[in-house]
Amino acid sequence: PPLYKQRYFFVKDIVNQYKPKKVADLGCGNATLLCMLKFHSCVQELVGVDLLMDRLLDWNSDKLSPSIGDHLGPRDLDLSIVLYRGSAVEKDSRLLGFDLITCIELIEHLDSEDLAKFPEVVFGYFSPGMVVISTPNSDFNPLFPASTFRNSDHKFEWNQTQFQHWASNVAKLYSYTVEFTGVGAPPPWAKHVGYCTQIGIFKKKQPDPGSWILAKPTGSRISEPEEHVYQVVFTASF
Ligand code: SAM
Repeated sequence: PPLYKQRYFFVKDIVNQYKPKKVADLGCGNATLLCMLKFHSCVQELVGVDLLMDRLLDWNSDKLSPSIGDHLGPRDLDLSIVLYRGSAVEKDSRLLGFDLITCIELIEHLDSEDLAKFPEVVFGYFSPGMVVISTPNSDFNPLFPASTFRNSDHKFEWNQTQFQHWASNVAKLYSYTVEFTGVGAPPPWAKHVGYCTQIGIFKKKQPDPGSWILAKPTGSRISEPEEHVYQVVFTASF
């Protein structure tokens, strides 16, 4: 399958493995990934956020809405889908409390100012159980016929060392673990270049059981002031 589909299948595998109830996709584009995830019965809440939502409304709102098939085979659990127009570097309290947040081919579209805000918003404030971030691996680029950026809107393309350095620092700062993998394996004669798309899987560290008295009570976020900055552009419930 083409690379973009391999990225979606990668996320589907993560969802099958970890069974998150609440999943948000930042930079969801035309929401193809969300359309695929609505068939996972563990998922009860799906949220997409993107700066631009026009493409989506033309393309995929039909596929996100309940269809005849959805009613013929009812789900055991309810599912709600909400799409917001907003930026992944702005805080909105409706993104608190998620099990999984995915950022598929998003970070390379952030300028240096937004990239600097991104970790504090996603890891520090949204603080989900798990984060999956994918981005192009520039070590792979020499294997392409023309060696420039893969997309003119990319602000940067990191090699494996750069991505892993950034991701490890973010993980350390916000108490997550991080593992690296990818999709789009290199040919056998160029193993050293790594995957075409590099992926970091971040998992929030559980507080040390001995320090529970010092830890913030669970749900302490709920008492924080509501901040609604994003604009709702689509909702569906099943
Ligand atoms: N994740 C989708 C996929 O894999 O098919 C789309 C990836 S596309 C390369 C990057 C997306 O990020 C675009 O839809 C763009 O509008 C969105 N985007 C760029 N900057 C953003 C920001 N600050 N907040 C939210 N979305 C953003």
